[in-house]
Amino acid sequence: PKYVYRFSEGDKDQKDLLGGKGANLAEMTRLGLPVPPGFTITTEACRAYMATGQVPADLRVEVTLALREIEDTFGRRLGDFYEPLLVSVRSGAKFSMPGMMETVLNVGLNDASVQGLAQFSGDERFAWDSYRRLIQMFGKTVLDVDGDLFAAALDDLKAERGVRDDVELGAEDLRGLVETFKQIVRAEAGRDFPQHPREQLDLAIEAVFGSWNTERAALYRRRERIPNDLGTAVNIVTMVFGNLGETSGTGVCFTRDPSTGHSGVYGDYLTNAQGEDVVAGIRNTVPLADLEQIDPDSYAELRQAMRRLETHYRDLCDIEFTIERGKLWLLQTRVGKRTAAAAFRVATQLVDEHLITMDEAISRVTGEQLTKLLFPQFDAAADKTLLTRAMAASPGAAVGEIVFDNAQAIERTDAGADVVLVRRETSPDDLAGMMVAAGILTSRGGKTSHAAVVARGMGTCAVVGAEALDVDVAKQEVRVGERTLVAGDVIALDGTNGEVYLGDVPVVDSPVMTYIADGLDAGLAACPDEATAELVQAVHRILTHADGVRRLGVRANADTADDARRARSRGAEGIGLCRTEHMFLGERRELIERVVLAEGDTERDAALDALLPLQRGDFIDILEQMDGLPTTIRLIDPPLHEFLPDLTDLAVRVALARERGEVDEREVALLAAVRRMHEANPMLGLRGVRLGLKVPGLFALQIRAIAEATLERRRAGGDPRPEIMVPLVGSVRELQIVREEATGILAEVGAGGLPVGCMIELPRAALTAHRIAEEADFFSFGTNDLTQTTWGFSRDDVEGAFFTDYLANGVLTISPFETIDADGVGALVRAGVAGGRATKPTLHMGVCGEHGGDPESIHFFHVAGLDYVSCSPFRVPVARLEAGRAAV
Ligand code: ADP
Ligand code: MG
Ligand code: MG
Repeated sequence: PKYVYRFSEGDKDQKDLLGGKGANLAEMTRLGLPVPPGFTITTEACRAYMATGQVPADLRVEVTLALREIEDTFGRRLGDFYEPLLVSVRSGAKFSMPGMMETVLNVGLNDASVQGLAQFSGDERFAWDSYRRLIQMFGKTVLDVDGDLFAAALDDLKAERGVRDDVELGAEDLRGLVETFKQIVRAEAGRDFPQHPREQLDLAIEAVFGSWNTERAALYRRRERIPNDLGTAVNIVTMVFGNLGETSGTGVCFTRDPSTGHSGVYGDYLTNAQGEDVVAGIRNTVPLADLEQIDPDSYAELRQAMRRLETHYRDLCDIEFTIERGKLWLLQTRVGKRTAAAAFRVATQLVDEHLITMDEAISRVTGEQLTKLLFPQFDAAADKTLLTRAMAASPGAAVGEIVFDNAQAIERTDAGADVVLVRRETSPDDLAGMMVAAGILTSRGGKTSHAAVVARGMGTCAVVGAEALDVDVAKQEVRVGERTLVAGDVIALDGTNGEVYLGDVPVVDSPVMTYIADGLDAGLAACPDEATAELVQAVHRILTHADGVRRLGVRANADTADDARRARSRGAEGIGLCRTEHMFLGERRELIERVVLAEGDTERDAALDALLPLQRGDFIDILEQMDGLPTTIRLIDPPLHEFLPDLTDLAVRVALARERGEVDEREVALLAAVRRMHEANPMLGLRGVRLGLKVPGLFALQIRAIAEATLERRRAGGDPRPEIMVPLVGSVRELQIVREEATGILAEVGAGGLPVGCMIELPRAALTAHRIAEEADFFSFGTNDLTQTTWGFSRDDVEGAFFTDYLANGVLTISPFETIDADGVGALVRAGVAGGRATKPTLHMGVCGEHGGDPESIHFFHVAGLDYVSCSPFRVPVARLEAGRAAV
């Protein structure tokens, strides 16, 4: 294969092969912009190196040929004594990656060519400065010498000479420093600094290849989900010198402001400096605008290049440049990183300038960026006392009093306080407290722990796995190092970076959220300044366009009238999942317990009768909020153990009572029943449709409640559109039985014709979807359970147990509960879609569950051909945007 591309050969679309830096250097060269001549060694060469541990033999030859071309154009040779050519060796992967070897400048200098450089530039100081920089960078990045040793030697020298700045050191000083640096290399690396220019070049290239696999780089890739096998490219670029005196310098600039998106002159410039000096903050830079005074010609040329690049990339670019004795050189460009707010504003500004279309604009922003704009944030300027740093599980900023349980949480919020629920970990029992809390903090668990998943679903800020915390609920205190905090103490959580602070930290609200929840006028009214108003307008335009182009509908998962209203105001087009389990918590729990455990029909029927009006009331409220929109109500799907008394507790209670000789017959009977029902694997047990078929009257009650609520809403002049959904179906026969019962009840009540469908959340359901479709009016893919049952993972158990290892060793790149496993679980979704449509070509299908709000998963569902996604109300705007992006 061809391992070397001249800059004149590549282009910006070859990032896979040439890396980001190389592809863009090539593109700039093709545009005729002033790029120093050079070439790029491909990522393929790096991959070959990784596979064999050796630099491919062909590569050395190709490097020689490309290098000679450059030497010939300049009539100079690499590291020659007379007018030496020098080069930089720069890594550049497809994605920019901190933690990899960066750059070695001035390759080609040695004891001889440093003299040549001095003579030919007429600047001895410059030559020795360049040489000491080479030994320093080369020593550190290629020979693995501790960089602090060089820095310390430089500091010592400055102290000795009584100067503050390294520009104040003279040629003789620097010549001495070169000797010191060489000694450091000899002592630390056990070899001399290589004098041969080509050896320098080859070692630097190999070091760049090798840096792909350093621990830091690998860690970064894991976190950013960058594949491990891409490899990096290496760019060899003719050196140009910004450190050749007052008419030289180096700088960075943006074609528009990366935090507001406004076009203008943004950047920094540093006279008489090389490369790193600008970012390293060694000396004070001046604003780019000052360059107009310093060097008007270069400034004009740079402005022109900026405009040219922005027009060409049709996006905000950032640029690295160097001026060598009044001549401008461009050393790097890329589509610039920007804040979430700037992404939205830049996108719409470019539309207004007719550089891109609205379709392109929505592809320039992401759901993740939108999410960031929705959360309140801590005032960046405020003083903070950091308690600990842990996993940022659900974004946002929360300040509140510490509470340790539901009762405290409710009591304090009723009294008007904001609270942070602090637990070792959370379980469904803590739901009440979680629902009212401003923030949730746990000392255990990861990104898929109960606390994290539930908090994300509710849009509540959460920090989890804060191992530095010792949470002692019994003592009602939490210890952090030397400190002990008690209930009522105020703490602050940053769910975006995982930091926990002591005391109050001022929070600023998000006007974008106000816009999402209450509309454009309210959003604009909430803006503190013009810039924020521009942002709100930009978000509005982009979301409106996404709504116009998306094919996927967006519904919400909502169990209460409040949630339903919230979802609707955020643009939900229906409810995709109304869970009914929560409706049986609290006081009603006892009723459902009686239904499940009843010995005889009479006892059960009495409990059911008591439940009917309550259920009907729940549905009337929700259907009223969702008037005119589809509302998918899932029949009860309780993991049984959540509704029954705990077996151990009950057994202990009965035993103790027996000891005291006061046996309570009811308790004894209850214990027998609970024991009978006890399951080793409740998640794979008597749930969903199985429970409905086992306990007579349970589903019937719910169906009747839905039917009666529908009639009631119709009588009130409403347009209720409930859809009855049967959970955990594995066989068409299960659905058929429920459907027959439902048809009878609906007809009897006078609400015939309501759709009856089912969840597809078991592999068997997906694989027999063509059969199940015979009895279903719609499908809804329950990808949470489908993921558990496809992988054979119990989500509640595996996360702490081995997910961390699986993420580390690459079995998983991300939790399959967060982003759908497209290959495995996704194959079942595709099979389910195909099966369903084979039987009923227009069968309506959606997805409910965590994945419905996850950007990457939404793109998958779009391609899979689903009709809608359903997600938590908070995620609705994100889903609208991503569904739009998937469609363009
Ligand atoms: P990074 O990715 O860390 O920015 P670069 O490869 O871009 O690393 O280089 C680091 C610094 O060295 C940058 O300021 C860059 O402009 C400068 N630089 C790189 N190559 C050359 C060169 N051939 N001539 C002059 N300066 C260079
Ligand atoms: Mg750079
Ligand atoms: Mg399920």
